[in-house]
Amino acid sequence: MEKAFPKEIAFVLLISTNLMRLPKQIKLINKAFKNLVNLIFTTIMPYFNWNDTINLLKKSSPRRFWNACKVYSSYRLTRLTGNPIQWGYPISISFEPTTSCNLRCPECPSGMRAFTRPTGMLDQSFFKKTIDEIYKELLYLIFYFQGEPYLNPDFLDMVRYAHEKKIYTATSTNAHYLTDAKAKATVESGLDRLIISIDGTTQDVYEQYRIGGNLEKVLDGAKNIVKWKKALNSKTPFVFFQFLVVKPNQHQIEAIKKLGAEIGVDQVRFKTAQVYDFENDPHQLVPTIDKYSRYKTGKDGKRLVKSGLSNHCWRLWHANVISWDGLVVPCCFDKDAMHQLGNLNNQSFKELWKNPNYLQFRNDLTKSRKNIDICANCSEGLSVWED
Ligand code: SF4
Repeated sequence: MEKAFPKEIAFVLLISTNLMRLPKQIKLINKAFKNLVNLIFTTIMPYFNWNDTINLLKKSSPRRFWNACKVYSSYRLTRLTGNPIQWGYPISISFEPTTSCNLRCPECPSGMRAFTRPTGMLDQSFFKKTIDEIYKELLYLIFYFQGEPYLNPDFLDMVRYAHEKKIYTATSTNAHYLTDAKAKATVESGLDRLIISIDGTTQDVYEQYRIGGNLEKVLDGAKNIVKWKKALNSKTPFVFFQFLVVKPNQHQIEAIKKLGAEIGVDQVRFKTAQVYDFENDPHQLVPTIDKYSRYKTGKDGKRLVKSGLSNHCWRLWHANVISWDGLVVPCCFDKDAMHQLGNLNNQSFKELWKNPNYLQFRNDLTKSRKNIDICANCSEGLSVWED
């Protein structure tokens, strides 16, 4: 049997090879540090919340911390050397509760019923089996990809299961199912973060993007959650309104801040929108306020992605996405699971995370991100949150 090359020797070789390029690397480290400080002050700090941060820190453990160190050092070394290295396991995973959705949002394959993959519901026993395998390293679990999570009848049971494993849990909802009883069950499940998508403060504006949506239901749902948090004296979930800024709603930015304060959610956050056909923008969604747009106009007058598409991706190193039926894809931009890196029905998660498909994808991205369809129009390298 072929023997694996010892990691320790590989590490020493990498370091010694890179010592020769030291001045360049010191500059890169300096730049990385500045970027990190910039990231903290420009993106994280405006949304900093003590309760939520302390809650997240409480989910840490020596093993999770050590795993995060391994992932981060793998990522930095990959950037320095151009060779894809991965020593850790994901810090964060997104599990798709379902592909079904009650709305018809134009930039969402679930909303447009435009999937080529089958629609269905995540099975609880499959979910638990995967969590059992990875929870010791996993810090953060996101219950959304495509579809509306509350349509899966077992959704809150799965949240409870992850909560019992001391994983930070988050979900994003269109809030049409947050009845009084569901809101109470949500608070009781131990969910840590609830993102409520609300993209307008009046029904006519709201429904331009959230086609088929009812703003009153969303507001009632948010009120129910706030009410049950108080009644059960719970600091979780940390609730925020996510306002996806598109051209039709950009004039309601101040109004949504006021509405969020009136209802009593913890924050209101503004997210820039991914537009598939950003060059032609057939639904006229790209905002005209520059800071809320992921796109800029190039010298030739054509729209470009602002990020510049550097050949690296932190998201690919620290996270991934699992579809309801067990397909593992690099990130949430692969909505139709075109880049399947593995299938959890045939392989364990830990085998899959380091399998040849993953290696090849990391390698391709490190060499030329712009040649991978999903990577050529994604937010990696950009801040998607704005004040
Ligand atoms: S689509 Fe973006 S986030 Fe996803 S793997 Fe490619 S570069 Fe990373």
